[in-house]
Amino acid sequence: MKFKLEYIWLDGYEPVPNLRSKTKIVDFETEPALDELPLWNFDGSSTRQADGSSSDCFLKPVALFSDPARKNSRLAMCEVLLPDGTPHPSNSRAAIADDPDAWFGFEQEYFLYQDGSPLGFPKDGFPGPQGEYYTGVGYKNVGDVAREIVDEHIDLCVAAGIAIEGVNAEVAKGQWEFQIFGMGAKRAADELWIARYLMLRLCERYGVDVNFHPKPLGADVDWNGSGLHTNFSTKHMREVGGEEYFTALMSAFSEERAAHIACYGPENDLRLTGLHETAAIDEFTYGLADRGASVRIPHSFVESGHRGYLEDRRPNSMADPYRITGRILQTELQVGRGKSMPTMVTRFKLDERLQVMVPVEMKTENPDGHAVYSNFRRFEVATDSIVQPPSPPK
Ligand code: ADP
Ligand code: MN
Ligand code: MN
Ligand code: MN
Repeated sequence: MKFKLEYIWLDGYEPVPNLRSKTKIVDFETEPALDELPLWNFDGSSTRQADGSSSDCFLKPVALFSDPARKNSRLAMCEVLLPDGTPHPSNSRAAIADDPDAWFGFEQEYFLYQDGSPLGFPKDGFPGPQGEYYTGVGYKNVGDVAREIVDEHIDLCVAAGIAIEGVNAEVAKGQWEFQIFGMGAKRAADELWIARYLMLRLCERYGVDVNFHPKPLGADVDWNGSGLHTNFSTKHMREVGGEEYFTALMSAFSEERAAHIACYGPENDLRLTGLHETAAIDEFTYGLADRGASVRIPHSFVESGHRGYLEDRRPNSMADPYRITGRILQTELQVGRGKSMPTMVTRFKLDERLQVMVPVEMKTENPDGHAVYSNFRRFEVATDSIVQPPSPPK
């Protein structure tokens, strides 16, 4: 049977990539598996990924989804490779740490746009002030077609096999949110990119654009920007946790504030003003149920003995989710290697990457008082993210 395989990748535009895709028709007798999809190439000189003189870039499928909107079609999220098979510099997915037990929940906010302004805005100026739009109902609050789009997007995501968890109308008119949950730093971000792709493609038919800018109406007006709140938990946070670990994690987040902001999307200074339910960009704060903090601690987290997930409210709607999940995991990993946690780490070279074993629990103490560690987690870490060798076991 002929399958339409939609190869989807991120281009080389800065500071954030655009989604690109093209269709490859391939004959398979039965449902193709990811590792059966062929490598493909494209003209990198048209996507800011190569010079005209040597323009071939390669597409390696890394995640496969159903494509419910087209007959016999599948969506293949791809990494971009150089002709020698190594990751292209724009390939943010290849550069991040991963851990299948790290879970991420993204709250993707965005505006629907038509003719240069948010859907439902009058030709000139602004509609009534914010107040009734958030989770609103009725034509005056949400207009006539937005709900149809949003609803169809849910169906597309569910049928594609993406864990969409909910949607809601947001604070500004024409602004909406969908939530995507995923396990693993790469996989969760793959699913968000595909959910964005499905929304963009769906809106073509309505003559509507999806605007992912974090502050599309500018910083001088009293209208909310768009975020990509990122909820996260590792196995250790869910199962062990505790106040001491939490405090160590938050101090690592504080120390790495600038490194996190660098991964959280461009022009975030327009949005992270300390107003409109945001934190200030140059401070790191956390607080219980505090929507003005950088990291919000859900009530459930404290009630379960500092176990569960946390919400980083700083990433913005336009950010590359690979960089967000990778950065959060990297900081969490630093704490795992820090003084509040066991420090025994073994490592060895694996291709261009380091494989790091981190014990996450101290199981027992043997008779001479030495700790015996258990429950190791394996990470792959880009070599340039290893700042100093971990200390040997005590
Ligand atoms: P808000 O109150 O901030 O608007 P939402 O209900 O929109 O919250 O989003 C909450 C997010 O938290 C969802 O995307 C969900 O998938 C995510 N989430 C829930 N539990 C976990 C967990 N254990 N680890 C990571 N993310 C989680
Ligand atoms: Mn939300
Ligand atoms: Mn929201
Ligand atoms: Mn939120």
